[in-house]
Amino acid sequence: MALLQIAEPGQSSAPHEHRIAIGIDLGTTHSLVATVLSGKAKVLNDQQGRVLLPSIVHYAADKTVYGDDAKTLITADPKNTIVSVKRFMGRSKADIKFQHPYDLSGEDNQMPAFETAQGRKTPVEISAEILKQLKERAEDSLKNPINGAVITVPAYFDEAQRQATRDAAQLAGLNVLRLLNEPTAAAVAYGLDQDSNLAQDHNYVIYDLGGGTFDVSILRFSQGVFEVLATGGHTALGGDDLDRLIVKWAKKQLQIDTLDDTEYAHFIVAARKAKEKLSDAESADIKVLDYALTLDRPTFEEIIKVALDKTISVCKRVMRDAKLELSDIQNVVLVGGSTRSYAVQKAVREVFNQEPLCTINPDEVVAIGASITANQLIGNSTDGSLLLDVTPLSLGIETMGGLVERLISRNTAIPVARRQEFTTYQDGQTAMLIHVIQGERDLVEHCRSLGRFVLRGIPPMTAGQARIEVTYQVDADGLLTVSAKETTSGVHAHIDIKPSYGLSDSDTERLLLDGFKFAEEDKALRHLQETKVEAKRELEALEQALIADAALLAADELSALNHAKTQLEATFANDDIKAIEQAVEQLKIHSDAFAAARMNQHIDAALKGTKLDDWSNSN
Ligand code: ADP
Ligand code: MG
Repeated sequence: MALLQIAEPGQSSAPHEHRIAIGIDLGTTHSLVATVLSGKAKVLNDQQGRVLLPSIVHYAADKTVYGDDAKTLITADPKNTIVSVKRFMGRSKADIKFQHPYDLSGEDNQMPAFETAQGRKTPVEISAEILKQLKERAEDSLKNPINGAVITVPAYFDEAQRQATRDAAQLAGLNVLRLLNEPTAAAVAYGLDQDSNLAQDHNYVIYDLGGGTFDVSILRFSQGVFEVLATGGHTALGGDDLDRLIVKWAKKQLQIDTLDDTEYAHFIVAARKAKEKLSDAESADIKVLDYALTLDRPTFEEIIKVALDKTISVCKRVMRDAKLELSDIQNVVLVGGSTRSYAVQKAVREVFNQEPLCTINPDEVVAIGASITANQLIGNSTDGSLLLDVTPLSLGIETMGGLVERLISRNTAIPVARRQEFTTYQDGQTAMLIHVIQGERDLVEHCRSLGRFVLRGIPPMTAGQARIEVTYQVDADGLLTVSAKETTSGVHAHIDIKPSYGLSDSDTERLLLDGFKFAEEDKALRHLQETKVEAKRELEALEQALIADAALLAADELSALNHAKTQLEATFANDDIKAIEQAVEQLKIHSDAFAAARMNQHIDAALKGTKLDDWSNSN
């Protein structure tokens, strides 16, 4: 006898379909994958029980080797063993200024390819190999196909770097639900989006100190929505620097002048061991080559102070960026291997005046958070808050005088769309160049050009009559689309900004720092350029008026006006704002009288019953 399935009203008779979603932390040194099982996030290990997959791919002529197996080949076959491929993602060959042992092919302005024993491999293909490994690991251990994945990226990744990551995931056969900023993932892992007190805003600091990089982000959780308020960091500051500082100290203690490369490597290994030991012990013995010495906690703290102070000053800067006080911060989250150090925890505790969260393994916390978000996005969880990310640099448009008009300022939560109206500068202008700019400075030449396109077919009109709506739209993955539309005629054009290469994070940082450093200078330059543009516009309008109504002026008035015009034009050559302003004033005296005469003429005409519109035609 067949059993009847009984369904409650309002419920589906089919069992709830659980869809499989994973979170992947695609890291510079390690990558890992996590998923939510029975409501709990957990990292997935390989058949040997290993969670962390070293982000290394070795290309031999006849086979490809991954992870730990590839690690052992770094020294034996460096050219075919690709490490830290994340640093190459979304970069052009010209962007790659750091040292590496690889043979790179390709044009300067293109993403390079590695020349390997298996031919050319792009950073996207190599990252795809790593992602494929993690995908297969997840399929093996979950015994199911994967329906979707969330992949984390650094908060400072630009459009090109994000696009490259997305391409790699597609190549690996993953359905990307979303790219998620690493700090946001860490906050999700601690359930900071699940706070029951929704009436109040919560602010969180994510402090991420790894082996070679430092990143800090401030997140706000407000009315069920996460948003990144500010980010900052150092591209070359991490646990490796602490090791180097210990070696420097040891050399001094042992009165060693120089170490050769091999000796130095031995010292670094010993220093790292001692550093990690100090996370649990009060002191650590260092035995290296024929030397021996002891490092205690107070000395260690003194040695590394210079490095930790750097992280602290970045923290203070992002706090200022986010316009927050210490008392506004509800929680501080620690990410990255170096935050296991008691000294790092102590420094963070002191600067933020509270106990930081560090109960989740700092290597796994990002993947854990990614898996929780993936689970929400695939529809397994109903309590999903919408996660927002942030634009790392301001996005703007070039205006007259080589100036940047900002449409979306940096640290704006994405997705975001901003629209602004622009107009034509010249009579009868039928085309307009839309030049998309990224950066914090006021002049185009100091920022980065992301792309340009021309809006054609604007109906000829008087200067200032056309209404051109320019829209900047950044989607949830940080990809920018710019469109322009002339509203009276409806002509439009647009561009997707998916450049083949992007800004390096050090460039991002330089552009940011320059923005602060040159703020005053930029203000002066902007003022100068704006004054010039305005003066030129007035001259042009005056020119048109003279063509129509020069007859209203007496001969001496006309020559005085022309003289003032020439004087003003002459000031444009040297960038002396005072001189320009004086010449404008001078011109105004004469042009005001002319304008008054024109006005009277119009009024007279109107009083005589002539319509204003007809007036200029009938004359
Ligand atoms: P990355 O993501 O930059 O590759 P990780 O987050 O894996 O780096 O962190 C690696 C760093 O963490 C190394 O400098 C390592 O010495 C440091 N580290 C790992 N464990 C400890 C520990 N117990 N105490 C202090 N530092 C540690
Ligand atoms: Mg890391």
